[in-house]
Amino acid sequence: MTELLYMGSMNDCYIRDFDAMVVSVEDAEEKVIILDRTAFYPLGGGQPNDRGTMRWIGGSCSVVNVIKKNRIRHVVEGNLPEVGTPVIGELDWELRYAHMRMHTAQHLLSSVMWKRYNAPTVGNQIHADRSHIDFGTDDIDMDELKNVEREVNELISRSEEVRVRTLPREEIERKVETERVDLSRLPAFVKDLRTVFIGEEGEIDICPCAGTHVRNISELGSMEILKRRSKGAGKLRVEYRLS
Ligand SMILES: [Zn+2]
Repeated sequence: MTELLYMGSMNDCYIRDFDAMVVSVEDAEEKVIILDRTAFYPLGGGQPNDRGTMRWIGGSCSVVNVIKKNRIRHVVEGNLPEVGTPVIGELDWELRYAHMRMHTAQHLLSSVMWKRYNAPTVGNQIHADRSHIDFGTDDIDMDELKNVEREVNELISRSEEVRVRTLPREEIERKVETERVDLSRLPAFVKDLRTVFIGEEGEIDICPCAGTHVRNISELGSMEILKRRSKGAGKLRVEYRLS
């Protein structure tokens, strides 16, 4: 297993560069590097993979894709290092930070939509510039969504901290409503959940999540809801951006 450097405390999400050791290299259709530890986030949970570079004495490559498949696979372009080479990984920080802000904003928007309308989040896709969330409802109009936008921005202005705690699954099941967070898809062997709390005790949101987040919601700036689109079958897509 690759050690995931972005997964511990909130500060770990701010690791921009790191030392690691090459444990495996593939040079087939794609060039792949596997490290003993990484801060590169793999595609997953609606959040795109990180990009960046790896450097070592005598070579370098660009990290163009990151996939989690047992271990973290860095798909690269450029030179390949030998197994055992110490490398320095460096994230495209502008891209990652944009994803962190968008992803944290997704928690806020999902929380407000749940609390106001009991509208569960059924899907989401983060991008650096615009993101969308799919909600399990389709009868909320743009005027209502502008009220949602106002509420999200009021929450942002409270400058609450974002915390990560790992808690027993039963405790999380007691704390969150099952329609807000569907824990049934998690395999039974998962006993502890990495859970994101926004607000001192999670007053704003509590949600198990393996993504990357900002430390304080003041970093989100302001949210603008751009579009709504009914996807049919009781599903509403809401697009937003941050500035
Ligand atoms: Zn999250």
